Amino acid sequence: MSDLLTQLRSGIGIVGPAQQAPDPVNIPMIRHWCEAMGEGNPNYLDEESAEHGPHGEIVAPPAMLNAWTMPGVRIKHEEMGNPPLPKNLSAESEGEDAESYSQTLSLLDAAGYIGVVATNSEHVYHRYLRLGERIEGRQKLVDVSEEKQTALGIGHFVTTETEYQTTEGDPVGSMFFRILKFKPYTGRDTGQGRGDTGPDSGSGRGDNAGGAAAPNAPPPQLQRPKPSMNPDTQFFWEGAANKELRIQQCNNCLRLQHPPGVRCPACGSMDLGWIVASGKGTLYSHCQVHYPPLPAFKQPPIVGLVELEEGTRLVSNITDCSYGQVKVGMDLQVWFHKDPQGFSLPLFRPARRPRREQTLLLEEVKVGDEMPLCPIPLTPTAIVATAIATRDYQDVHHDRDLAHEKGSKDIFMNILSSSGLASRYVNDWAGPDAMFKNLKIRLGAPNHPYDCMTMSGKVTAIENHADDGSSADVTVEFAGINSLGPHITGSAVLSVPAAPRR
Ligand code: ZN
Repeated sequence: MSDLLTQLRSGIGIVGPAQQAPDPVNIPMIRHWCEAMGEGNPNYLDEESAEHGPHGEIVAPPAMLNAWTMPGVRIKHEEMGNPPLPKNLSAESEGEDAESYSQTLSLLDAAGYIGVVATNSEHVYHRYLRLGERIEGRQKLVDVSEEKQTALGIGHFVTTETEYQTTEGDPVGSMFFRILKFKPYTGRDTGQGRGDTGPDSGSGRGDNAGGAAAPNAPPPQLQRPKPSMNPDTQFFWEGAANKELRIQQCNNCLRLQHPPGVRCPACGSMDLGWIVASGKGTLYSHCQVHYPPLPAFKQPPIVGLVELEEGTRLVSNITDCSYGQVKVGMDLQVWFHKDPQGFSLPLFRPARRPRREQTLLLEEVKVGDEMPLCPIPLTPTAIVATAIATRDYQDVHHDRDLAHEKGSKDIFMNILSSSGLASRYVNDWAGPDAMFKNLKIRLGAPNHPYDCMTMSGKVTAIENHADDGSSADVTVEFAGINSLGPHITGSAVLSVPAAPRR
């Protein structure tokens, strides 16, 4: 074993000092987190509704478990001319004991392993946290791997376990957590795995990725065919550039038609205007174009005939799902692909189904049930806002220059946000009063800006029926796939009631 590995492993088994949350569980942090994640469960936000729920009061989203004790922003206040924060306002632990985990990370940084990504997070929840409770975590270093060659680079996996309890000593949960510390730009260029080996690897951003090309991405070899535009269709393309789906309407008989024409096929009027469609529709018909191969598209494109809720149909591409997930009648939502050639194109992806307001009951769920597809557009704002809402100020999640320096082509989503979004997805499907017992995730390809991650999932087990028949544990397995591949795979166990809990 190398000297470095011996040093790195010297702290294994040592429990660090308690990291106390700087604030007790509070509404502003919960609200900020829910807003960033798009979580709408009233048990987290609405005092009156929560009173009638299974907790009898507002509780914190369980996926926030490790957000409470995150260290927060580490601006060097002295360097900015500010006095240092008083100790009691800082999340820094007292640190009189040797902190094995921090020491391990410092050793790795000093040895050149400055890149960092989290790869696994497994939460176990003993109970939900209530307002006013203050928690602390005790972290134990449990493993440091040998040096490994990964797609991202040469590095070591560092694994910890943290036990959380209230400051009164009441255990509330635990977390198994693994990160990879790696040397930037030492990855294998296989195009496999994370698919994110740095700016030269070229993800071959396909049609499914959406949005503007990242500044460091190589120019695509072949661009998608440019649509033809003329004075009769100008309104449509101007609409797309403004993120409006404009559909031609006859001003005489009000009939809608697409594609735009020069006169109304119903009444013959040449007095034509347009409406702005909602962008919601269903899939009427579809196919996948395998031949001839189209080099501008990463995969054979999916072509769909979309029935708009206003009542007309249009042909477009269906993106952000696999062809196996495409089904006639599925709900679709427009989005606008901003092409580097200077035009915008309305495309369709699966629509997010609204959150279930009445909690799923045991009799309504069976093993094999599929959860609805749910797209999560990854805007820079979403990535930064969720990082900050989880108190994760690691520069790679908000600073593109530093992310690049540390081996990534752009900023990427932090693991606490992936975990939070997965919990939202499961919560939306199960309803507000289903209770999480655990949430286990593993990360693969990074979530970069301008991509979209589509969640899918299914029920894999129903077990541990309560003696009185009031509930059982439902296990769901889920995945979130972006244009690079699977970003997140994982599972959750929920206690699902047999009868309404309110
Ligand atoms: Zn007409």
